[in-house]
Amino acid sequence: MTQPPPANEHPPADPSPPPSVAQEINWEDYRDHLATADKEGHRRWLFPRKPSGTWHQRRLWLSWILLAVMFAGPFITIEGNPLLMINIVERRFSILGRIFWPQDAVLFAVAMLVFLTGIILFTTAFGRLWCGWTCPQTVLMEMVLRKIEYAIEGDAAAQRQLAESPWNREKILKRTAKHGVFLALSFLIGNTLLAYIIGLDALVRIVTDPPSQHLTGLAFMTLFTLLFYSIFARFREQACIFICPYGRFQSTILDENTLVVAYDHRRGEKRAHLKPSQNAAERATSGLGDCVDCRACIAVCPTGIDIRNGTQMECVNCTACIDACDHIMDKTGRPRGLVRLSSLNNIERQLPQRFTPRMGVYAAVLVALIGLFLFLVLTRADTQTTILRATGSLPQFSAQGQVDNLFTVKILNKTNRDIPVEFRLEQPAGTLRLMSGSPLRVPATKLAQSSPLIELDRGQLSGHSTPVRIGVFGTSGRKLETINTKFLGPRS
Ligand code: SF4
Ligand code: SF4
Repeated sequence: MTQPPPANEHPPADPSPPPSVAQEINWEDYRDHLATADKEGHRRWLFPRKPSGTWHQRRLWLSWILLAVMFAGPFITIEGNPLLMINIVERRFSILGRIFWPQDAVLFAVAMLVFLTGIILFTTAFGRLWCGWTCPQTVLMEMVLRKIEYAIEGDAAAQRQLAESPWNREKILKRTAKHGVFLALSFLIGNTLLAYIIGLDALVRIVTDPPSQHLTGLAFMTLFTLLFYSIFARFREQACIFICPYGRFQSTILDENTLVVAYDHRRGEKRAHLKPSQNAAERATSGLGDCVDCRACIAVCPTGIDIRNGTQMECVNCTACIDACDHIMDKTGRPRGLVRLSSLNNIERQLPQRFTPRMGVYAAVLVALIGLFLFLVLTRADTQTTILRATGSLPQFSAQGQVDNLFTVKILNKTNRDIPVEFRLEQPAGTLRLMSGSPLRVPATKLAQSSPLIELDRGQLSGHSTPVRIGVFGTSGRKLETINTKFLGPRS
């Protein structure tokens, strides 16, 4: 079946025959090519029609909540720590106000597994709903930037007309206004991302200190602004189609029970334009379905696809086509839901949506991983201590029959309060003296260092190397950690 070009595409400028490479493509088969590329491989600029309807309204409410959280996030602190901070430069991370360090590698690995398993479970059950409803790129593009574009340039038809018109006063004014607002918003979004990475305090310092003190920070500020501007002004849906890794691998996760935005071909086909003289019964008798081939579902699609061709990798499940088709169904007196959130099994076999064994396995793995993650977080020590023999030091032997070893300890305070710590020799019996004096005060979120001197009687030694156990205690007497090392004695 030959597919006419989607309604929201820019009409191809040159109708001449395709060059040799493109001739290998069967243009009658939608799977052979992208909706956003023409036969020469050039980008087809999309002009999606302004969406409206029940699903859009729900999406709008959710977007406002997500945007509020996104922009308020850097200002929210818990016990003095940011709600979320991924400071790669200083290697400090804050999640829900808890500070994590590169030393928490196991925790990170488990958190990553929780994240990946959660994504797999969510995608198996709900397809790419994340992309259309919660992904920051889609929320910002479709719910903020696109709406500004509609406000300045008008709906799809007006935008297309403006694009095709020569550069006159109106076009210069509208384009300048649009790109000015896009650039300002990209600056705001770029700085918000920077605040999530380096923390709000560091961002404020970059803004308020003399520029010469923060050249790297200013370079990243500019880079992020230009990056977001290029995505929102030019790249748009191409980010979802080509760049997003989640978009690429989600097609391997979907199955026949996954909820996706789907066209009910059993009800819709055979599609044909509506004849005013024909009522629903006459239409059904003549073998026609409910699809009136109005192409409204394509006109609103931000990725330019025809959902009637089935689930496609470009579909971000934004549900705009559901609203568009429901509107047509209302107008033509047919029941809503010709395009709806449904599964292949529901449409083909009328099977109800169900929780499949596959989802059950993913859910069980996810619950186990979350349990492990919580266990690791709740049992995580406030400090992390490493002990090494002091560089260049050798065992010292006294005339009274005792042996000394000098060590170096480094202790990291993972909390946001100062911790005074004491080191106690637990095994074997002997003495431990901290050269810097005890207790050792470890500042909040900082590293402290000291040199413990351990003294043992020769009778306590078991050969050249004796295992030693040291307890690290807070001043309240609470044990924070146990560290083990080796004590060197004389060579026999
Ligand atoms: S096909 Fe429908 S749900 Fe998918 S991206 Fe297009 S409008 Fe959104
Ligand atoms: S909006 Fe509905 S009726 Fe119109 S072409 Fe799409 S599926 Fe068919």
